[in-house]
Amino acid sequence: MDSSHLKMQRGIASCHTALRALVLLALAILGSAAASSRPRWPLPDAALQVLALPPAQDGDVGIRRKPRIYIDPGHGAPRGNTGNTSCVCESEEVFNARTAEKLYRGLAATGRFELKLSRKQGQTRAYQARVREAEAWGADVLLGIHSDCRGELVYCAADGGQSCPCSGESHDAAGFSLLYSDEDPELTGRRLGLAQALARRMKEAGFLPYDGAEYVPYLYESDDVEGSFVDRHSPGRRIYMLRKPRLASVIVETHHASDPEERQRWEEPRTHEAFAAAVAAAVLDLQAHQGSAQEPGQLPSARAP
Ligand SMILES: [Zn+2]
Repeated sequence: MDSSHLKMQRGIASCHTALRALVLLALAILGSAAASSRPRWPLPDAALQVLALPPAQDGDVGIRRKPRIYIDPGHGAPRGNTGNTSCVCESEEVFNARTAEKLYRGLAATGRFELKLSRKQGQTRAYQARVREAEAWGADVLLGIHSDCRGELVYCAADGGQSCPCSGESHDAAGFSLLYSDEDPELTGRRLGLAQALARRMKEAGFLPYDGAEYVPYLYESDDVEGSFVDRHSPGRRIYMLRKPRLASVIVETHHASDPEERQRWEEPRTHEAFAAAVAAAVLDLQAHQGSAQEPGQLPSARAP
């Protein structure tokens, strides 16, 4: 083979390499353009996925018991605060109870969990009693169900001529967040593992992780998974239901209750179906990660894959 032929071959090879790089670059640009043109939550056209659950493992039958999930609709305590008021003037404790009941039904339909609900719509229950019940039952996880209220609000008209607190036009403060406590080193791994698994699965389903702009530096601090935050209230003001239960306890701030479009999305059955599937997938991720016989309250600290 003479050197000129070799040079020509090298020339062709480098042309091929350059062409391949150009094609890859074009595909990347087209891909990111397609992704950015896709409607983003909470716009009405932003689709949610109902995630498929990880298959049951052989060892699940007869050896490992089903994970126990204690679902706690936030607020609704005697003489406690009722939470925020949404952009349709609904009290948060009412939204939380309705959402928790839907989550309970969605999880029950999978047949993969043991479930308990701390309170029903219209009932009140002391937080201490909820913690005692979850611990005595041997819950593996405690999910506090809430909605959030963030940033500056204006008043807007709702049905029935009411004036309700609303966010502005943009969706800057929209999205879900997962909150946990790192006060107890023995429990931090389990709580963080649960919060991050939930945040990953909710994002995968199409929910928007909140960016935390209104949280820092005095309320919550973000960790390395989008949508997952650790409690940074001043000591003495930290969230009871995050630090008190001796198990993996987290709060799911499902959405920004003052954002009219996001609030509307939580009226859709598909949203609740996708949320229940994301919660189920996250808890099963943690169980699968453990991989061996499971004791009560011992879901692992490892992160979900
Ligand atoms: Zn709340």
